[in-house]
Amino acid sequence: MDPDTWQEAREYTPEQLANARTVLEEIRGGRELWQATRRYPQPTGGYLPKHLLVAAYRALVESGEWAPDPGLLARIRMKPVRTLSGVTTVTVLTKPYPCPGKCIFCPTDVRMPKSYLPDEPGARRGLQHHFDPYDQVRSRLEALEAVGHPTDKIELLILGGTWSAYRRDYQEWFVRRCFDALNNPVDPYAHEEQAGFQPAETIDAAHQLNETAFHRNVGLVIETRPDEITPNELAWLRKLGVTKVQMGAQSLDDRILELNQRGHLAADTLRATALLRAAGFKIVLHWMPNLLGATPDSDREDFARLWVPASGGLGYNPDEIKIYPCQLLANADLYAYWERGEYQPYTQEELIALIADVKPGIPSYCRVNRVIRDIPSTNVVAGNKRTSLRQDVQLELERRGQRCGCIRCREIRGQPVDPAALHLEDFTYFPASAEEHFLSYVTPAGQIAGYLRLSLPDAAAPRLDQPAARFDGMPDLEGAALIREVHVYGQSLPVGAEMSGAAQHIGLGTALIQHAERIACEKGFARLAVIAAVGTRPYYLSRGFERGDLYLVKGIERRD
Ligand code: SF4
Repeated sequence: MDPDTWQEAREYTPEQLANARTVLEEIRGGRELWQATRRYPQPTGGYLPKHLLVAAYRALVESGEWAPDPGLLARIRMKPVRTLSGVTTVTVLTKPYPCPGKCIFCPTDVRMPKSYLPDEPGARRGLQHHFDPYDQVRSRLEALEAVGHPTDKIELLILGGTWSAYRRDYQEWFVRRCFDALNNPVDPYAHEEQAGFQPAETIDAAHQLNETAFHRNVGLVIETRPDEITPNELAWLRKLGVTKVQMGAQSLDDRILELNQRGHLAADTLRATALLRAAGFKIVLHWMPNLLGATPDSDREDFARLWVPASGGLGYNPDEIKIYPCQLLANADLYAYWERGEYQPYTQEELIALIADVKPGIPSYCRVNRVIRDIPSTNVVAGNKRTSLRQDVQLELERRGQRCGCIRCREIRGQPVDPAALHLEDFTYFPASAEEHFLSYVTPAGQIAGYLRLSLPDAAAPRLDQPAARFDGMPDLEGAALIREVHVYGQSLPVGAEMSGAAQHIGLGTALIQHAERIACEKGFARLAVIAAVGTRPYYLSRGFERGDLYLVKGIERRD
């Protein structure tokens, strides 16, 4: 059970809290959580919920009876996988709004932003809060606090149709209100706004406040279409504090794109990835097998295009991908094609075989975030209805004796790290107009403890016939090598908490930055620019970076 508000957690009776205390004492004494809770079934049936244990723990700490015990809290936390990469993601939805796209597979529901369904987890919360950004972020922070998740490092994931299609004044207000919610610390005991909290009047002021706020923003993600990406748009996204862009590529085959009325070509996706990379953004592509006109074999070929140079020697090479097999929904235009017998979804077996075929070929620098969209199966008219597709594919790979080498399948998560055993790998590849170095610290077992993405723009390379791609409005980028991401794993720990050996606390980030600096210097760059999320600016400022216009920048020189 996942309480939506802390208020709910406060309504426990003294008897329940006393019961919870007994269970906590047993856990402190070494008993497993599940064993301890089963020894004390509730009179009404069932066992003590974890949020009650967290509430009792907090009350004991608050009263001074118990000293803070992050280890105990870690053991009773719910769904730890959500924060294992060191950062907690908070999803917010924009208001219902039309999208310039006419994609035939995309559902329409007037209550929701384009492409979302009201009963999708995450999307549902947006609807419940009338798409108010402040309320969405607050309620999520409160729910996370109530179940004991650290909330000090927050990635904001803004979803809803095409972000760039919304009016810019709405965009700015939306982001500012998200930051207002982050800047007003959630007090799980009071459940009310901090006295004297003043919302920021401008986005810059909201950003400034977040640099020292309790809930720091460590990433800001929006989703848009490839044909919306221009240098001007990217400068605007930087002004908002965006660090990562999700785009629907869907297919890299113009015939399939046209059949499905995507309204853009594969070349637009290629150009957009090159521009995003040149401006230091992290790039997430959505790829959709089983579109109208595709076959499992054509999808295999299409997936391979993501990683090899396209015409002109340029590559897409996304940092992350979401594999969203096309799902047949009654409120999408594709439904009529299916009714006429012009479209047939793959069977579950075909889909599992297809994804198991392509997954082992994913390069080590890419993370597969999803292999199916979280659409409740009741909405799916025909074809795959299993939401456990990722696990099904995993089992199929195990049966074949194969492994996926993507970042997600190799990240170390919350395990302790022995720094002495780590070795540094530098995987170099050449996407459109750049030389990329994926630097990672890897354990002897091949797990990733931390990584950095260094992009060396190729000044001599043609910028895809786009002179404007020189980013005249972004002087920070002139002649600079770019750090696009620094990511160190470890449980998302609250400030001041200690967890021996957790990767975030042994200076891997600093070591990676120093290595990137060395490479950039050797390649003749005199400056580094980092696309720092607003809440991470102090981290870079304390490592020699200075404030630029839209990036943090640092002059570099050879030190040998
Ligand atoms: S661009 Fe995206 S949101 Fe817009 S219609 Fe196409 S799939 Fe739907």
